Amino acid sequence: MQGERTDLQGKSIEERFWSKVDIKGLNECWPWKGYINPSGYGLFRYYDRYIGAHKIALILSKENIPEDSIACHKCDNRKCCNPNHIYPGTNSDNQRDRYERIKTKRRSMCIEVNLVT
Ligand SMILES: [Zn+2]
Repeated sequence: MQGERTDLQGKSIEERFWSKVDIKGLNECWPWKGYINPSGYGLFRYYDRYIGAHKIALILSKENIPEDSIACHKCDNRKCCNPNHIYPGTNSDNQRDRYERIKTKRRSMCIEVNLVT
């Protein structure tokens, strides 16, 4: 983790981010306590932009994430920011996941959020 990044309020991004996550047990969902958009995803304000909270959780907790990755939830909880429930996927993973879910009539857990945007 790079601890040098700070935001305008002088707190590190990590500090500000995790203070808005309801951190629970390792295998439980960690709900986002900040702003939730109408689609049900948590949003984190980063300077003048809003970024998916689960995406930040992924970026802060994992290294060497491929640039074209998308942040996918293993759980079916869009508000969840537990890094153990989020993994970097690719669009083809996402499509395969969606296909499997249509076949098995499960709801999709994978969302298309590009890490680069
Ligand atoms: Zn979860």
